[in-house]
Amino acid sequence: MTLHPKSLTEELADWLAQGGRRIGEIVILPCGEGWEVRHVDDAESPASSLTAHKTPEAAREISKYDAAGQYRPLKGAPNLVHGWRLTLDTTAALRDALDFFYPAALGNWVAFTQGRATPSPIRETFARQTGMYRITGLLDEDDCRAVVADNCAYATNCRRRIAWPVAAGVPFDTLPPEKTNLEPAPDEMPVLCLHACSLLVASARTYIKKKRAAAGQ
Ligand code: SF4
Repeated sequence: MTLHPKSLTEELADWLAQGGRRIGEIVILPCGEGWEVRHVDDAESPASSLTAHKTPEAAREISKYDAAGQYRPLKGAPNLVHGWRLTLDTTAALRDALDFFYPAALGNWVAFTQGRATPSPIRETFARQTGMYRITGLLDEDDCRAVVADNCAYATNCRRRIAWPVAAGVPFDTLPPEKTNLEPAPDEMPVLCLHACSLLVASARTYIKKKRAAAGQ
């Protein structure tokens, strides 16, 4: 008998059945036959105090801007707006909503836990860049530590947890543990960063250009 791999919706259902409730800044609460999603800070708020939404697509609008109305280019940024609740009838609808809040987070976590994800060391990512970003290949290990500490800070910049090392066999041991801890609390699914985002690559370019200019290069 051939065993078919589970769909991501089935994987999500299993995680929820085991008590999974938190992803990034959101909390998932049982609601009738379905689910209600809220900002984690609003978990205890009276439902009547929150703006109600009912479709997965509402997650796209909720996550688009921060409280000041500024576009959120980085969906992992810890500035998800408060004051809403999103009720969804099915786990499939919840899965769609999660992909708007944290793109690919579920798929990344499932692939990672099944040993199918291959995070690229940051120096290899930089070394692969071409064109105007080719210069990022000049960052050494300490440069990488500095750029990542500055741009990926868990508390202020990005809630994704980095699954990649500085280089093969060289972990990011200078970062606070919450940024690299891939052993989640029982009710939490970490939002993983499997590959450096374009914002980090752009920052690395600025960093190395400034460093070289300061050295007269
Ligand atoms: S590289 Fe990853 S952890 Fe860093 S800011 Fe980008 S998405 Fe977040």
